[in-house]
Amino acid sequence: MAETHLHWRIGDVEVTRVEERIHGVPRDTLVPGITDAHLAEHAEWASPYFSRSGRMLVSVHSFVVRDVDRTLLVDTCSGVEPERPLPGDPAFLERLEKAIPGGAEAVDTVLCTHLHFDHVGWNTRVVDGTRVPTFPNARYLFARVELESLDEDDHAGVRSPAVAPLLEAGLVDLVETDAVLTPRIRLVPTPGHTPGHVSVAIESRGERGVITGDVLHTPLQVALPELTASPFDADPDAATRTRGRFLDAHADVDCLLLGTHFPPPTAGRVRTRGRGRYFAAEE
Ligand SMILES: [Zn+2]
Repeated sequence: MAETHLHWRIGDVEVTRVEERIHGVPRDTLVPGITDAHLAEHAEWASPYFSRSGRMLVSVHSFVVRDVDRTLLVDTCSGVEPERPLPGDPAFLERLEKAIPGGAEAVDTVLCTHLHFDHVGWNTRVVDGTRVPTFPNARYLFARVELESLDEDDHAGVRSPAVAPLLEAGLVDLVETDAVLTPRIRLVPTPGHTPGHVSVAIESRGERGVITGDVLHTPLQVALPELTASPFDADPDAATRTRGRFLDAHADVDCLLLGTHFPPPTAGRVRTRGRGRYFAAEE
């Protein structure tokens, strides 16, 4: 597998993408409503995000976010659980070790944008038949409302492998969805996909970036924000409203969008052209 460690700098903050796997999925399973006409109309900029046969390319990756004196990991991919719709890759941890100076033990904060299986998978790993925290020196941050919603509905069976062992180990901090994590990094509430979903805003030395989480599943939604991941959105209407507000807030401003499920080129800016918008990738 190609080692696509894309890397960006936002002022004093460095962001590195560490890929678990890119999946080509039938469009209708994730974002129903994308038509061949949509792909043709936006091919000029959207073609890297679809296969030649029109499958949607969904990247599952983590972002390593290195602040002045902190090392954060945003989302932990699918992990070792078998039979996930987007299966993980055991080699992911080796790539992560190479990407982080000091390896997994140097991570001081793990932040899950939400508690879906493809964002929490490597929270733990199995050692000698036992689930242990993958990042033993980290505080794991979950949004309080997100964990409460998981307690009400855990249809994907995430709690037992990816949350409970951390609670038992006393490594979890419950945070509000607008929490300030460092002087340069804060959470932004973006509910809809899940009740406690957050994006991650970075601002340093006049430069801005934002890790989307699942506000967007494909850059094509920058042009077509009404297309929603309805099978997986807890509240599709709220998700659509949130996506609209999110895109309005980031259109034509100097803010680098880092797409949580965008294959390379993973980062770019929301630009207006004519009456529509497009995703201007930053290579
Ligand atoms: Zn996801």
